[in-house]
Amino acid sequence: MPGGLPSIGGRPNWVRSNTLAGQLAQLGLGASDIRYIGLTNSHIDHIGNLEMFPGATILVQRAEWNFAQTHPSEDTPDGARFNAAHPMALIDGDYDVFGDGTVRLIATPSVTPGNQSLLVKLPKTGAVLLSGDVIHFQYGWDHRIVPGNVWDKGKTLASFKRLADIMTEANAQLWIEHDKAQSDMRRFAPDYYE
Ligand SMILES: [Zn+2]
Repeated sequence: MPGGLPSIGGRPNWVRSNTLAGQLAQLGLGASDIRYIGLTNSHIDHIGNLEMFPGATILVQRAEWNFAQTHPSEDTPDGARFNAAHPMALIDGDYDVFGDGTVRLIATPSVTPGNQSLLVKLPKTGAVLLSGDVIHFQYGWDHRIVPGNVWDKGKTLASFKRLADIMTEANAQLWIEHDKAQSDMRRFAPDYYE
């Protein structure tokens, strides 16, 4: 979206000059090639561009779907977090997306009731755990600081433990997507990890 999603009430306006469509095009892909979208949560910085993929199934925790029905977003013009007509799979807890253990949704209730993380097992890179919004910064993870905007503090602490246990079991790296220092180190499309 040129210029990004218009901000409401003076909230930040996030913009990337290389759009999602542009990154996909660099990979020789179009929106119709995408089968699944794993949704971390229904905050404004996670739901942009969903309607660019009308044929893709959104994998969302049922708890997040229910939350969205009773908690209108302050950041969208009509308060909606999802288009109810979009193909959606409502997930209860962890979910093995392809049935072979390579991509697993991990339920990590925290900032919202249906926040989820993603465990990806790559042949060369190994296991990578994408935190989602359970934690926003490396410092917060190192010191186990619960973010101020969480839906449930106790569940957030339990989700911290869950992530730490998975890191041990799967020998996984933790990627904290909101951490700028980490983000600056990552390769982005059309570059990739094997
Ligand atoms: Zn976020």
